[in-house]
Amino acid sequence: MKAGKTRQLVLDLEQYVIAKKNVLWFEPSLDTRGGSHGNFLTQRMEELKNSSFVHSFKIKDPADILKKGLEFFERLKIEAIFVDEYFMIPFKRDFFYEYEKSKLSEVPIVFAGLISSWAAELFPTAINVIPFMDEIQKTDAICMECGKPANYNYYNADWNENKTIDDGKNYECLCHDCYMRKTGKPISIDPFLSSPN
Ligand SMILES: [Zn+2]
Repeated sequence: MKAGKTRQLVLDLEQYVIAKKNVLWFEPSLDTRGGSHGNFLTQRMEELKNSSFVHSFKIKDPADILKKGLEFFERLKIEAIFVDEYFMIPFKRDFFYEYEKSKLSEVPIVFAGLISSWAAELFPTAINVIPFMDEIQKTDAICMECGKPANYNYYNADWNENKTIDDGKNYECLCHDCYMRKTGKPISIDPFLSSPN
């Protein structure tokens, strides 16, 4: 969502596709949000995903990654596995134990997606996934007021609906200074107190 994530994924994926290396790409079948990243990036991403070196699947269950991964592993050299919007797929710690035990253990796996809600609370899936990552790269959104790196989401819709997944229309990405200017306070420990109203 207006973050640098797609930009980074495009760069990563290009490295494999240009070198004609096979990768698997998984994304949640739940994710119905439209592209909110701007046309060029969305188009480039689609181009890369349509390449014959990217084998992509929509999944509901983390076990599908192991199943598909092993299927492909038997007949192709798989260089990497990508999981986009991982937080919408119910990962448990077991997944990582199974992955390590499997023939896929040497294949790098990249998880991409949000770690926390608009109220700066870690998603349960993030809590299960983050401890198993060897490396974490945090990409910042761009402040929609001033252009600085943005760490805050300003939710400008009715927070009573309490939707954790949004198409990006009801959020503004803001840097700390702009968030403070708009709300007059930092993100509160209690998400209800940080509501714009
Ligand atoms: Zn700003």
